[in-house]
Amino acid sequence: MEVKIIRSKRRRRTVNARLVNNLLLINAPLMLSQERLDKIITGFKLKFARKELKTELDKEQNLMDLASSLNEKYFGNKLRLESIEYVTTQNSKFGCCNYRAAKIRISHKIGMMPKWVRKYVIIHEMAHLIEPNHSRAFWDIVSRYKLTERARGYLIASGSISSSV
Ligand SMILES: [Zn+2]
Repeated sequence: MEVKIIRSKRRRRTVNARLVNNLLLINAPLMLSQERLDKIITGFKLKFARKELKTELDKEQNLMDLASSLNEKYFGNKLRLESIEYVTTQNSKFGCCNYRAAKIRISHKIGMMPKWVRKYVIIHEMAHLIEPNHSRAFWDIVSRYKLTERARGYLIASGSISSSV
């Protein structure tokens, strides 16, 4: 990502960024220190990179298609799912399910893991549509997926896992 900085006297405080093709256009106040600006630019780069990654993941892997086939195979097609999408802002959790709204969000980290692990995380979140808590009944449902234990082991080994996955 190339960066072009335009300093302006009129600008007092805010730094503004736009991504045009692969060029990051930065509008910054004249008086802002370079050090401070560099930090801000790093933040912008990260934000745009995440956005790109999400677009990439959404293009490559249609989560709704995958969820539909899992719904058929593991839930007898009984689940009603409103939406399922990747998010790049979720760093400590691999997935989350808003069971009232029937909306599932999957971390972009999962998008880069093997498919059998990804399936587990999606099944886990889908099971929350039936059982909101990690109850015995919940794990009974999730373990319909034969690779559940292996996938949990994989996620634990990959670090940043909360015990809830
Ligand atoms: Zn859970």
